[in-house]
Amino acid sequence: MAHQGLSPYHTHADLLQKYMELPQGGKIQAVWIDAENGLRCKTTTLDGPVSSIDDLKEWNFDGSSTGQAEGANSDVFLRPAAYFRDPFRRGDNIIVICETYNNDGTPNKYNHRYSCMKTMEAASKSDPWFGLEQEYTIFGSDGRPYGWPVGGFPGPQGPYYCGVGAGKVFARDMIEAHYRACLYAGVNISGINAEVMPSQWEFQVGPCAGKDMGDHLWMARYLLVRIAEEWGVTVSFHPKPLQGDWNGAGCHTNYSTAETRSDGGMKVIEEMIKKLEKRHMQHIEVYGSDNDLRLTGRHETGHIGQFSWGVANRGSSIRVPKSVALAGKGYFEDRRPASNIDPYAVCDIMVQTTLLSA
Ligand code: ADP
Ligand code: MN
Ligand code: MN
Ligand code: MN
Ligand code: MN
Repeated sequence: MAHQGLSPYHTHADLLQKYMELPQGGKIQAVWIDAENGLRCKTTTLDGPVSSIDDLKEWNFDGSSTGQAEGANSDVFLRPAAYFRDPFRRGDNIIVICETYNNDGTPNKYNHRYSCMKTMEAASKSDPWFGLEQEYTIFGSDGRPYGWPVGGFPGPQGPYYCGVGAGKVFARDMIEAHYRACLYAGVNISGINAEVMPSQWEFQVGPCAGKDMGDHLWMARYLLVRIAEEWGVTVSFHPKPLQGDWNGAGCHTNYSTAETRSDGGMKVIEEMIKKLEKRHMQHIEVYGSDNDLRLTGRHETGHIGQFSWGVANRGSSIRVPKSVALAGKGYFEDRRPASNIDPYAVCDIMVQTTLLSA
């Protein structure tokens, strides 16, 4: 049998280190992420440090290999949209979020950023802000949730949410690495916590201006998935990774505008909620795939077929935090979006419904 070398499921940090210490001769490396169809990336060399998005050139990739184009007309163009510091290569190296465009110059069908930016521009007077709570589940190389006992299950849910102590919390080291990498990169990460199901975690990004929210969330996801490569584990953004009495994973979308944040804001929030109720099913359509498995009306969710709202109510579609109801102004939380949403599409429809529709 041919020699297989070292495990392909593991990053060999010890071997890599001496190469990463080599000087780069003034060149920098830029990772280009196509965030619109899951995560893909490729790397290019630039002549020197970048100080503005305009310093970055357009590039392309083979869209027929990603389901984003036909083979006969396969170039998809990558247009730089935002960039962050690269916590893996460090120094002047950067990671770039790109929008995807077809050969004929039209936005690719998975490019939800394009429309989102137009919407944010149209609503800029209201200064919409978002804060997203990204839940996710870690799986080991055996395909089971990371840290779960072989051939069995951990004890029922209860002690794991914000858990402390061996057996109550899994992979804290990796979560810590991700948090620091986000801060280094310039991602507006605002917190982390262990979730209700063991080996499920959450990080929060925001508040961000509407035009920045999607970029920051996608970058945080990218860093997480890359770091998980090093730990030899995978990250699932599926909204119901395990059937049974285990919580699903969402991406609660917290939202405010200049009007909701000002005196009398609670009244504006209630008007927005009425508009959201009218367009419940249109929102559900962009709130993630397989979300029906999660929005059952159990496990701290509102049922997918029925819009509801309440103050401090975690079993409803929309929750107004108690502190907001007391202050009479602030933000509200849309609890419907699943963990696998495209944040550009969700921020887009939220602003469309609350600010740009009758
Ligand atoms: P929960 O109690 O639902 O678990 P978290 O603390 O996890 O709440 O998340 C709250 C989120 O609300 C954070 O992502 C934060 O950025 C966001 N947030 C706070 N204030 C605002 C605001 N004014 N507008 C939009 N988002 C906000
Ligand atoms: Mn090639
Ligand atoms: Mn939360
Ligand atoms: Mn949560
Ligand atoms: Mn929440």
